[in-house]
Amino acid sequence: MGRGGQKEPLYRKVNTLARGVRHPGGGDYRWERHTKAEKTAEADGVTRGKMRKSGRLGAFDYTPLFRFLLSRVGQDWPAVHAEAVSRLDREEPVFWMVARTQDERRRLFATGESSYFSGLFVDDANRLALVDPELSPANLRPGCACCTHTLNGVRFGLAYDPDSPSDLTPR
Ligand SMILES: [Zn+2]
Repeated sequence: MGRGGQKEPLYRKVNTLARGVRHPGGGDYRWERHTKAEKTAEADGVTRGKMRKSGRLGAFDYTPLFRFLLSRVGQDWPAVHAEAVSRLDREEPVFWMVARTQDERRRLFATGESSYFSGLFVDDANRLALVDPELSPANLRPGCACCTHTLNGVRFGLAYDPDSPSDLTPR
């Protein structure tokens, strides 16, 4: 592997203690709503990062990888893939964002409680592409009032509205 050290890694350690506090002042009502919104998102097929399930929450944050892949949309996939893997501890997180099959394509996916990134795939010309080029944080509505929801690091443009469903489901 080309670990020459010329390039920064595409993952970083996170401070697990700093991440433990969520939903400040959240009463039962808020928790209930939040849980419901999350379940809905999962039921609708939003792919969540695997960090929680594998018990490695807080071990590594792959946000730099997701930003890197986003910045390479339109470029030759084999080259992008090779560079990404050379700067990672493992390959798997690449495929949290980049669909390997038609079935895996998502317009967005969750990387944390309320952080989302655009879903990607490899097009017929072997270039990295957005599943939904129209997707914009400006048109997204959060699923709860207590968290700051972001897409690709940009805050959602619409306000939380208990009467409107959140717009986090894949299309
Ligand atoms: Zn929340």
